[in-house]
Amino acid sequence: MFDTTCMICRKGFTISNSDYLYQKIKYCESKYYICKWCNFFLQRDAIKTTGIDPDELDGLISLLGDSYIRGIP
Ligand SMILES: [Zn+2]
Repeated sequence: MFDTTCMICRKGFTISNSDYLYQKIKYCESKYYICKWCNFFLQRDAIKTTGIDPDELDGLISLLGDSYIRGIP
């Protein structure tokens, strides 16, 4: 486990070993962490420009699972 900070909202998050982001961040594939909520809003902005169906996005977010939102107060 380690702590990181969302680059957008600046809140701290704890990434567990089971989090799919853990490997990415640990091995520096991804230098910056973006939390679920900021990611969600970014994707919503993407919907406006790309025309992705919001229902598809809901399915995607539920696939990400609870571990993704651990650390949010
Ligand atoms: Zn955030």
